[in-house]
Amino acid sequence: MKIVVTGGAGYIGSHVVKALGKAGHDLLVYDNLSTGHSWAVLSGELVRGDLADKILLNDVMGNFRPDAVIHFAAFIQVEESVREPLKYYRNNVSNTLNLLEVMVHNGVRNIIYSSTAAVYGTPEKIPVTETAPLEPLNPYGASKVMGEKIMAHLSEAADFRYVALRYFNVAGADHEGELGQAYREATHLITRALKTAHGEFDRLSIFGTDYPTPDGTCIRDYIHVEDLAQAHVLALHYLEKTGHSEVMNCGYGHGYSVREVVEAAKKVTGIDFPVEETCRRAGDSPALIADSGKLRSLTGWAPRHDDLEFIIRTAWEWEQKLRGSEI
Ligand code: UDP
Repeated sequence: MKIVVTGGAGYIGSHVVKALGKAGHDLLVYDNLSTGHSWAVLSGELVRGDLADKILLNDVMGNFRPDAVIHFAAFIQVEESVREPLKYYRNNVSNTLNLLEVMVHNGVRNIIYSSTAAVYGTPEKIPVTETAPLEPLNPYGASKVMGEKIMAHLSEAADFRYVALRYFNVAGADHEGELGQAYREATHLITRALKTAHGEFDRLSIFGTDYPTPDGTCIRDYIHVEDLAQAHVLALHYLEKTGHSEVMNCGYGHGYSVREVVEAAKKVTGIDFPVEETCRRAGDSPALIADSGKLRSLTGWAPRHDDLEFIIRTAWEWEQKLRGSEI
């Protein structure tokens, strides 16, 4: 298939581009390189462009004539979204509208959309299924709910189909060592822990120890980025084969607390890095664990790296590779 990948130079996008390239797809990556890197695009052509630039986007879509779009380009940090909501609505909602309008204009009818577990807020039942109420706790999650809703309405009104993949906590790096997270201001737990182990930060803060969880810290379902990449390849086949719009959770179905992740990071690195307990971070849900039965049954997805230490080890190897580089 011919596929346009927005945000394909970023962390998750670049792993998906590699997986799609291996699967024989013809790719065009559209990325403004605000957080991504040209070296991370291992397959296809890279066009440096912003989704706000509808003229360029329309030219690209009209010339390349893709069968489908995979849409990663978005801002993703919960805490930042609380401080700067308009930045999130502008990029995640308004720019998604641009993309959809350009797709419709050019007769491109299939999209895989990056959504998030943050759409659920604090789910009543865990593991959470796709039918749970959407009650996001922060602008990031709300912006992704809006993206999903826009696509749902469009799919009812026009010949248009989507699969929204709701990612739980994506972590780890390419096991061949070619790709990984390369964003200096990364705020995610595993990356922060490993950068602290490296001495880049004085200490790791644990945000909140008074949550209603067994050890008082938040629980998340950490999924290896290559398993998530495979979910995209399969979701694309699903869309091509069935033409059905769907929403699917992407996670393993079990979680780890912040304390458990910190202990695993210390074990994998062999470094007893300093940790402090601080107050809660705005917008955090106590526990998010995926029921991924739908993804498994509809697409045949079978994860290969459901192992927290493997996830951390691949991320650690990548962090070491980043040392001394210009990234
Ligand atoms: N977290 C933490 N210290 C950090 C970064 C994150 O205690 O330096 C916690 C955060 O409060 C949340 C969990 O780790 O409970 C996962 O956060 P992350 O930012 O990795 O992902 P999110 O679930 O927000 O997408």
